Amino acid sequence: MQTYKILGVKCHSLTMDEALGRLQEFLQGDKTCLVVTVGPEMIMRAQEDEDFKNLVNAADLVVPDGSGVLWAASRCGVKIPERIAGVELIDRFAEILAARKDNALFLLGAAPGIAEKAGEKLKEKYPGLPLGGCRDGYFKEDGPVVEQIKQSGARVVYAALGSPKQEKWIRDRGAEACIKVGIGVGGSFDVISGAKKRAPQLFIKLRLEWLYRLLCEPSRWRRFLAIPRFMYLVVKNGRGAVEEWKDGN
Ligand code: UDP
Repeated sequence: MQTYKILGVKCHSLTMDEALGRLQEFLQGDKTCLVVTVGPEMIMRAQEDEDFKNLVNAADLVVPDGSGVLWAASRCGVKIPERIAGVELIDRFAEILAARKDNALFLLGAAPGIAEKAGEKLKEKYPGLPLGGCRDGYFKEDGPVVEQIKQSGARVVYAALGSPKQEKWIRDRGAEACIKVGIGVGGSFDVISGAKKRAPQLFIKLRLEWLYRLLCEPSRWRRFLAIPRFMYLVVKNGRGAVEEWKDGN
């Protein structure tokens, strides 16, 4: 699997099917594997948050979620086969878990009721899905949440706590909760549950999903400033913006 550093942040270059293959390999192992879906916003956060940068660079799988990542790569002569949107990855993986039936899924995060609703939707779509449990993301103490996941027997957690909280939570609590695969999924439960709509296909095709989100939630405009800042840094660094990953970075 080809691995790159985009502005110093790890990113794997692979197809959706290859990513799903990796996730299934993780289920065979006995450690907690952290999966990050990385976009320009996270890459910009990593420029200022060393702990977060180290976390992403130590993650077991980092998939390119965000057309900005593909744009940066192609500018530097690197071909990343496709964008792997987190919301699609977790849907396809749920289908696999439903077929295998041997590893239960836990949905952690979003506002009260949303994870349950997302769970219902996933079970409607994939009836055999072993759903270990659901819990909202507005808890004060980690302990009871870790215990709930552990008791549920789930081996896969989709964590929708917003980034970087969700990735740090998986890193710090995943092993205690006895999970094999933890994926940070951002606002995916809001989309799967139907509480929020994903951008229409046209926006996705034109690589303008970010614009749709901005139009829907203009109050979050500050966060979208990360995109032009990312583009500026990529252009400024020229070909050095994207480098091949070498072991030991
Ligand atoms: N969220 C949560 N707990 C928190 C903060 C956020 O469960 O303490 C949830 C929030 O309800 C939303 C999800 O995390 O469903 C993603 O939040 P956001 O849209 O800010 O993150 P992004 O998808 O942009 O990474």
